Amino acid sequence: MKPIIIIGAGMAAYSLAREVRKLDKAAALLIITADDGGFYSKPMLSNAFAQKKLAAQLVSQSAVQMAEQVGANILTKTRVTHFDTGRKVVDTSSGTFEYAKLVIAVGARAIRLGLAGDASDQVLSVNHIDDYATFRARLLPDQRASARVAIIGAGLIGCEFADDLATHGHHATLIDPNAVPLSALAAPALSQGLQAALSAHGVDLRLGTTATGVEHAEGGFKVTLANGDALVADVVLSAVGLRPDLTLAQAAQLATGRGIIVDNHGRTSAADVYALGDCAEYRIDNQGRTSPLPYIAPILAAARAIAKTLTGEDTEIDLKDSPVIVKTPSYPLALVPPPQHAVAAGRWETETDGDRTICRFFDEHGVMVGFGVAPQESKIRQTLMAALGTAA
Ligand SMILES: Cc1cc2nc3c(=O)[nH]c(=O)nc-3n(C[C@H](O)[C@H](O)[C@H](O)COP(=O)(O)OP(=O)(O)OC[C@H]3O[C@@H](n4cnc5c(N)ncnc54)[C@H](O)[C@@H]3O)c2cc1C
Repeated sequence: MKPIIIIGAGMAAYSLAREVRKLDKAAALLIITADDGGFYSKPMLSNAFAQKKLAAQLVSQSAVQMAEQVGANILTKTRVTHFDTGRKVVDTSSGTFEYAKLVIAVGARAIRLGLAGDASDQVLSVNHIDDYATFRARLLPDQRASARVAIIGAGLIGCEFADDLATHGHHATLIDPNAVPLSALAAPALSQGLQAALSAHGVDLRLGTTATGVEHAEGGFKVTLANGDALVADVVLSAVGLRPDLTLAQAAQLATGRGIIVDNHGRTSAADVYALGDCAEYRIDNQGRTSPLPYIAPILAAARAIAKTLTGEDTEIDLKDSPVIVKTPSYPLALVPPPQHAVAAGRWETETDGDRTICRFFDEHGVMVGFGVAPQESKIRQTLMAALGTAA
């Protein structure tokens, strides 16, 4: 029996494998991954100091344990170099394999800024547990208690790292071209609240400017900013975003946009080839709009639906809105950002209730299509979720 081959061993790949196994005890599954296949929760990487965890302690199951749990063969340290949708084969660094169905779950790659300077290649980014291990080793050589960390990008991940590092005695500087942190996701009032909380927590915010170069300097790195300032850091972390990994999909001539385009069932443009996770670009509404959705909730929804389709019950992916929980304990936020197409014509409305700020986004028809709240907790989240789609 030719197997279902899954490329990757991240949250997307393992969620799908688990769902398939729930539905079909006999399906042959082959997982091929370039890494060592250990299972970890990636969101923990940006608050691992708070969890007091070393990289190795974040891995909850090894590849061998995962193989047993999901009933799959797992080829680790094996890179897929190409796949052929006509012959239905996958070429890897350790041989060629035939598939019945193929699932691409190769994730995304960190965007690299074009920085000047002789140390621009020393800038780190964290999108994998191995990256986190490298980051932690650079941060704490010789058991140093406190390091200076320059973080480029005050989006979700940059802010989470800054808060986590500051809590644990490190000096974090957050650099971003926008006037406030989290500007792409949060209402202005909440971005300002986060800015104030991070500042009060000891994070140095350099907003309205960007890093232009990184050079070796005595005892660390000199980071030059576009506004003429410079700062010295022991570690420079880039958190400017991720780009879906399209290398294999484009070589196999699958339809791609920002990600690998999938239909409501998670099917790519090639027969018997599916994609999910950070590499995919999903249909997000009935008007044919598509978007990458680089979060856990869409992965779980896609995994459930694709598993059903793969095991014989055609099922559409049910992408319900779910809030993004921003892991900044200094200012805990929950956000459902308004859809991109609604932003220009809509408006934010802000309400304060004691020390809580609630922002609701209404589209041009007066329908609530997004919100943000801080401090967040589950009851207020649920109330706001229930109000989505209703008129003002
Ligand atoms: C620091 C951080 C914090 C986050 N926090 C949150 C959060 O709080 N909430 C939330 O919802 N989301 C969060 N996210 C996003 C979420 O973690 C991701 O959406 C999710 O983990 C992506 O999983 P994936 O399986 O699609 O990709 P990945 O985890 O990147 O897995 C890709 C896999 O593909 C393999 N691979 C790639 N190319 C090949 C190849 N050619 N051959 C073989 N194998 C290959 C890799 O080795 C890897 O195993 C966070 C992300 C980061 C980086």
